[in-house]
Amino acid sequence: STETKYFVIDDDLIESLFKPRNDFSHKGTYGKAVIIGGSYGKIGAAVLATKSALKTGAGLTFTIAPKCGYEILQTSCPEAMFIEAGEKIVEKFTIEEKMTIGIGPGLGTDENTAKGLLSFLRNYSNPLVLDADALNIISKDEENKNLIPEKSIITPHPKEFERLFGKTKDSFKRLELAREKAKELKIYIVLKDHHTKVITPEGEVFYNITGNAGLAKGGSGDVLTGILTSLLAQGYSAKNACILGVWLHGKAADLTAEKHSKESMLPMQVIDEFGNVFIDLN
Ligand code: AMP
Ligand code: MG
Repeated sequence: STETKYFVIDDDLIESLFKPRNDFSHKGTYGKAVIIGGSYGKIGAAVLATKSALKTGAGLTFTIAPKCGYEILQTSCPEAMFIEAGEKIVEKFTIEEKMTIGIGPGLGTDENTAKGLLSFLRNYSNPLVLDADALNIISKDEENKNLIPEKSIITPHPKEFERLFGKTKDSFKRLELAREKAKELKIYIVLKDHHTKVITPEGEVFYNITGNAGLAKGGSGDVLTGILTSLLAQGYSAKNACILGVWLHGKAADLTAEKHSKESMLPMQVIDEFGNVFIDLN
């Protein structure tokens, strides 16, 4: 149908989809989250996404990053496992085991990285989370968009959205274009903004109203990628992962702003508030 269904993400919706942890569970119950990202000078993005995946409940978390990130990641995120980047490793590792991949934070867009990502996508068909430089690489060729596995989640900010799908006159037209593309490519689009929109392949639109301008800083989006990858790994549907994920990200940011101010708060401190959001949910 051509009718759009618009929803606001409210507390009732969040309570209805949140899955508390089972007493008899073990780490295998909560999936394996794999963050692929980081490059020289941008290892911090991989740290933020990894930390965020760890702190939202994934059973096991892995980071695939270049060698220069090894000590940084192992020191800042000792609970996560490090795997040195290399396209062959990525393909083997992720296809043979049931991993949930989030790719893009700090990845870089150099030729080798772009080749590696595109060849990986040619051989991979499970839903994954694509953000940042992964989207920038995909943007370089119209054909690349068809490599995005169905039911994947993409998380563009307005500029990344424009690179992917073109310029629009205003945010209403952008939303309309996003609905078309979500349907056409059968993907979930998390259109990041002051009020982030989750757009489903069915054309539904979920408005998020948590979050604040303290998030308008480098690193905030990397945190969201970690959340979404982790929730997907834990068995949330892509739709519920997006809804719970954007809400949690914003809610934690609101708690952080109360304590530290919008000016001073940093993405890592937002991650530190996840615990308080979960305490309230449980
Ligand atoms: P990125 O540009 O990839 O770092 O992503 C920025 C993240 O921060 C997204 O989740 C945005 O929704 C959020 N964000 C940025 N600016 C604001 C704002 N003014 N109000 C609320 N959320 C924001
Ligand atoms: Mg970003």
